[in-house]
Amino acid sequence: MAPASRDYYESLGVGRNASSDEIKQAYRQLAKQWHPDRNPGDAAAEEQFKSLSEAYSVLIDPEKRRRYDRMGHTAFGEGQGGGAERIDFRAVGEIFEGLMGEVFGFASATRRARQGADIELDLEITFEESASGTEKSLTVPRLVPCTPCGGVGAAPGTKVDRCTVCNGSGEVRFQRGFFSASRPCSACGGSGQRFETPCATCEGRTVVPSTEEVRVKVPAGVEDGAVRSIRGGGEKGRGGGTAGDLHVRVRVLPHPLYKREGADVKVTIPVSFPQAVLGTQVEIPTLEGRVKMKIPPGTQSGKIFRLRGKGIDVLGGAGKGDQLVQVVVEIPETIDKKQRRLIEELALEFGEDGHPQQRSFLDKLRDLFG
Ligand SMILES: [Zn+2]
Ligand SMILES: [Zn+2]
Repeated sequence: MAPASRDYYESLGVGRNASSDEIKQAYRQLAKQWHPDRNPGDAAAEEQFKSLSEAYSVLIDPEKRRRYDRMGHTAFGEGQGGGAERIDFRAVGEIFEGLMGEVFGFASATRRARQGADIELDLEITFEESASGTEKSLTVPRLVPCTPCGGVGAAPGTKVDRCTVCNGSGEVRFQRGFFSASRPCSACGGSGQRFETPCATCEGRTVVPSTEEVRVKVPAGVEDGAVRSIRGGGEKGRGGGTAGDLHVRVRVLPHPLYKREGADVKVTIPVSFPQAVLGTQVEIPTLEGRVKMKIPPGTQSGKIFRLRGKGIDVLGGAGKGDQLVQVVVEIPETIDKKQRRLIEELALEFGEDGHPQQRSFLDKLRDLFG
């Protein structure tokens, strides 16, 4: 009872001349802080929240406020329940509807219409399809009204009663902190009805799982993980509720040769040591087909050549990326006797002159350590 006897103005931290807007704002601020949902299991916070709600209920009502100003707490008698009895749940609920969502049961009467659930699906496409854009057919699982019972849930010609668990409301109240809140009744699935003989097809659920083919357009240049949302493409709402959305997550399958770097396509071409030294011509796979490319004599391992405009469309049509061709010199891991002899001979022949980079490195190393 101690918190209930505290001065209401002090509780909310407002002056005695505070306007109702100021009172509302102060309560909104404090209630957020002390809300039982934010402080689970904290009895002191709940007490605090209770006394804030009590103070607000009195001060926001002009008639109660006048009485309180004149007579203080004695204006409401010293009833057994004290504070909690003075809480105006409707006034408090108005604040909470906008503040905390729909955790509490206050707004339940206006929530009978239930929104359809969102559906999330993955759509796999190839690397090439992601580059050029594509249109795909997607099988979307859906709940549709049961045909044999016409979406009622009862076997045709049998009786439909009120659900005894929720008394036909479709919702079950339970205690949450000191407020009662509600959730859909599990006995009747929120329909509020009980069937003498449930429909054999939907087992009283009124809906049955089905599928629908949906065409999904994937724009050129789309990247792995991109999500395309189709408003209203999810589950249908109930009782006039809006349908959920369909979210399609694009999964670009890995390509055996291509790697994506922004709008550029990178491909790695292995060449032999003699090819890198002497120069050669190689065939490059591109998104537009094969292309012949010259590798000039003396090409270093790791060198990247750029084929302009052979990449991926920039999303939104602002140009095209390039194809990057990286040359990697492949060194044989095993060699036979004859090859060893020839390479040793070649090494002698090269001396240091054939490798200016190595020579420059050794010079710098000498400078560094003397
Ligand atoms: Zn029920
Ligand atoms: Zn049915």
